[in-house]
Amino acid sequence: MKIAIDGPAGAGKSTVAKTLSQLMSYIYIDTGAMYRSLTWKALQTGTNLNDEKALYELAENTNIYFQKDDSPQQKVFCDSFDVSEEIRSPRVSSFVSKLASYPSIRELMVKRQREMARNHSVVMDGRDIGECVLPDANYKLFLTASIEERARRRLKEMNSQGYEEQLESIKNEIAKRDEDDARRDMGALKVLPDSIVIDTSNMTIEQVVERILSVIRED
Ligand code: C5P
Repeated sequence: MKIAIDGPAGAGKSTVAKTLSQLMSYIYIDTGAMYRSLTWKALQTGTNLNDEKALYELAENTNIYFQKDDSPQQKVFCDSFDVSEEIRSPRVSSFVSKLASYPSIRELMVKRQREMARNHSVVMDGRDIGECVLPDANYKLFLTASIEERARRRLKEMNSQGYEEQLESIKNEIAKRDEDDARRDMGALKVLPDSIVIDTSNMTIEQVVERILSVIRED
């Protein structure tokens, strides 16, 4: 069983995907965390973000993996560093779309994501999962919400992580990131003809999860 969840920033994808994967005992693969980890490493190593070849070499030599512990959160490791928190920083958020726009980087990431999903039941979230990573997924969901609601959710998340951000700047950041993610040539954010679109603006996480479970049950 493969469940693909795509959608713009802050639509609730990762929380929903995490909850679903726990309920169904499937593996959860947060593909955004993979692009973020590589961006984090590029910034750490001073790699030129305009140099696709250098970034590709860096990606080839970077091991990104997930580790589950007893908490509902899973940890993200880049090489041997636990980067779970640092990859959510505003600095990484502001550069990640740039790095994710390079075709060679996307090809490598898609290949690794497919390998992770091979022989497992998975819930995978990102931007191009239904189109590129798991085109034969059993379910393709597209979660969205109004920009105001998405910015409010992201602000809450950032504040809980100790970042003092302003609602307006978060709104601008996610609007810009969505635009960049939707515009690129390869793996662009889009609704597919076979996507099930869920507007989560006025829904709780539990309601979204229940809605997805009912889609699966009705099938
Ligand atoms: O999901 P999250 O917001 O953490 O993703 C961060 C960024 O990583 C996105 O804005 C996008 O640029 C990139 N990404 C991508 N393809 C994916 C997942 C994320 O390009 N499958």
